[in-house]
Parts: sequence; C-alpha cells; structure tokens
Amino acid sequence: MNAKVTGIRKDSRNIAVGVTYEQDGKVISLDGDYIISSMPIKDLVAGMNDVPEKYAEIAAGLPYRDYMTVGVLVPYLNLKNETNIPTVGNIVPDDWVYVHDRNVKMGRFQIYNNWSPYLVKDLEHTVWMGLEYFCNEGDSMWSMTDEEFARMAVSEMVRMKLIFKPEDVLDFHVERVKKAYPAYFDTYEHMDELRDYLNTIPNLFCVGRNGQHRYNNLDHSMCTSFETVKDILAGTTDKTNVWNVNTEKEYHEEK
Ligand SMILES: Cc1cc2nc3c(=O)[nH]c(=O)nc-3n(C[C@H](O)[C@H](O)[C@H](O)COP(=O)(O)OP(=O)(O)OC[C@H]3O[C@@H](n4cnc5c(N)ncnc54)[C@H](O)[C@@H]3O)c2cc1C
Repeated sequence: MNAKVTGIRKDSRNIAVGVTYEQDGKVISLDGDYIISSMPIKDLVAGMNDVPEKYAEIAAGLPYRDYMTVGVLVPYLNLKNETNIPTVGNIVPDDWVYVHDRNVKMGRFQIYNNWSPYLVKDLEHTVWMGLEYFCNEGDSMWSMTDEEFARMAVSEMVRMKLIFKPEDVLDFHVERVKKAYPAYFDTYEHMDELRDYLNTIPNLFCVGRNGQHRYNNLDHSMCTSFETVKDILAGTTDKTNVWNVNTEKEYHEEK
C-alpha cells in the first residue's frame, strides 16, 4: 500500500526477478519468485528492461478513458417512481441510469441510496447522487477545479429537471479516476501479440482490468487472480486460463 511500482526486473533468461518501487521518497527493490501484476500493462511494460521495441510500442500506445464523478447531496429528486418497487424517500428505485441526451455531457447518474442505505445518513430526507463523466486526463473537463466541475454538473442536473435549482444542493464531493476504462483502439489491435510476449516471461502473471487491458468487471478481475493462484500451485506457466477469463461471447454488461 502507498507504494508505486516503477520497475520490473528481468534477468538474461527472461525470468522476472523482482520489482522496484517508490515509497516515502525512497526507491526500494524487492525480489520474488512470482510477479502478479494488476498495474496497467502500459506502465508494466514501460518499467521493464529489455523489451523488444515492437512490444514496447504496442504497450505505449494502449489507450484509456478517464473518469470524473461528483457526488451531490440533495433533499429530493424530481423524478416520479412509476414502478411498484417501494423506495425510502421520494426517489426512483434505479441504482444507475445512463444518459443518452447529447445536450448534456453527463454519461450516467447513480442514486447511492439504492446501492446501500448505509451510504446515506438521512435516507428519508436526502439523496446522494453520483453524476458521472467520461473524459481524458488533462482535457478541459479534467482540468476544471472541483468547484467548476461541480457547478457544471449541477447545472446539467437542473437542465435535466432532476432538481429545480442549484441552490438545492446541500453538499458535493469530486473524484477523478485515471485509466478507469481500458479502451479498444489505437494499438489495442495488436494486444494478442503483446500478451504472447508477456507470456514468454514464465513467472509473470497479468491479472485484473488494466492488468489485462480488458473491460473486466470486479468478478472477472478476481477470477483472473484465482486462476493465477491455481497455476502457481500447479507449477504451470501456461496462462491460457488466466487470459481466458471474460472471453466468453455471451457476456455483455447489458444482461
Ligand atoms: C466507474 C467504474 C464503475 C465500475 N462499476 C462496476 C460495477 O458496477 N460492477 C463491477 O463488477 N465492476 C465495476 N467496475 C470495474 C471494477 O472496478 C474493476 O473490474 C476492478 O476494480 C478491477 O480490479 P483490479 O484489481 O484489476 O484494479 P483496480 O481496482 O483498479 O486496482 C488496481 C490498483 O493498482 C494501483 N496501481 C496502479 N499502478 C500502480 C503502480 N505502478 N504501483 C502500485 N500500485 C499501482 C491502482 O492505484 C489501484 O489501486 C467499474 C469500474 C469503473 C472505473
């Protein structure tokens, strides 16, 4: 925790022998028998010695989408519950709603009250909304101050008639998430070649979402680690099972 891995060391036999990480201003080296990596493949390969140029370029070109969200506390939600599902307070029962209106930048909003009542102090009289935006690190949205971003998002809430006026907002909290979405363009079309190269390092296992540069959900991400542990216990270096998680054609989030 609170340590940033900056380097992965391989020896002349192409075996991963250890990592270098930064913690509290110090650079520390740690050796290991296995390396299980859930850091973004782009950063993993950038920190690795003796990577053939072709693979280094594929990794360097992997794209991501970043993400910003503002939690907004409001005393009401101007939506009518037309379902038979009961709710506490005057809200609709959805956890999240995708926004397809091109007149706003908002991509999705969350109603945290419905995720868990324990997320909201006063469930009957307040609603914690999450307004979500997909962006790129460093772009005009990312560069806004928290206040500017919240103001923009709340103005969209008003335009969408979720609330009547900005003054109704009781509190807000902004979060920025780098590399929230591994994206499937640019050098991603050569991802198979990069995966095959990484598989030549017998004791390196790539797991998780950005660790595999795949749109894995939480269950998939955990499964990649379960499969890795099975492989290590079995003494196998064939990682097909690890990479095969979430490749079944029938999986779609819409289901
Ligand atoms: C907005 C959003 C909504 C989502 N909603 C859902 C959902 O509803 N259901 C669902 O199942 N999944 C959801 N997911 C996906 C889920 O969050 C991921 O699949 C899961 O968190 C991936 O786990 P992970 O361990 O691979 O990566 P992460 O949880 O991203 O953990 C990777 C960790 O590595 C750290 N790290 C990165 N680089 C380094 C480094 N160099 N050194 C040290 N540490 C490093 C990062 O800081 C991070 O803490 C969502 C994801 C996003 C972004």
